[in-house]
Amino acid sequence: NSFMELNLSRPLLRACEALGYSKPTPIQAACIPLALTGRDMCASAITGSGKTAAFALPTLERLLYRPKRAPAIRVLILTPTRELAVQVHSMIQKLAQFTDIRCCLVLGGLSTKTQEAALRSMPDIVVATPGRMIDHLRNSMSIDLDDLAVLILDEADRLLELGFNAEIRELVRLCPKRRQTMLFSATMTEEVDELIKLSLNRPLRLSA
Ligand code: AMP
Repeated sequence: NSFMELNLSRPLLRACEALGYSKPTPIQAACIPLALTGRDMCASAITGSGKTAAFALPTLERLLYRPKRAPAIRVLILTPTRELAVQVHSMIQKLAQFTDIRCCLVLGGLSTKTQEAALRSMPDIVVATPGRMIDHLRNSMSIDLDDLAVLILDEADRLLELGFNAEIRELVRLCPKRRQTMLFSATMTEEVDELIKLSLNRPLRLSA
């Protein structure tokens, strides 16, 4: 039961070590091998379970071994609140510190100009709140999700509670059909199930 056994490459193992993670949490042990296969998955997991690294590590691993042809947004992570977006972004920066993977933050309340410049530089990973991400996609010809490989819906129950249903549906439509989608939720409500049906393809279901 170690990160080494999870088939993660050197730079990611080094980051786990630097963060003081000695072994995977249960959600990480369950999630990482499945996510590495590229299958869609959904998991009930709460904050504090280590869910961020559970989706971030396999996603970073997939970016590392699939070199890109041109700069493009390859991963979109949607979170319900700005606070969570900031936390997820900071966690990804730490896990990616020994790689050249770039991650940017897109959220309401920050300067649109600065964010647009960051998005135009085509970071590999974007962590965003749904409303602001849609604004950018609608308003800029040069920002798109055409090369997206992974979509992550974090705290899906809260995304829906906060009224982001329409925004998420629009964002899902703007993503390529062929992609990996992962959804995490503290609770599995009927609304979350509907979102799973809409945005995931034959998902594996986990709980930890
Ligand atoms: P999360 O559930 O993703 O919000 O993570 C909760 C906290 O657990 C964060 O402070 C992480 O840095 C920490 N954490 C995540 N994975 C591990 C691990 N394998 N070992 C120790 N701490 C961890």
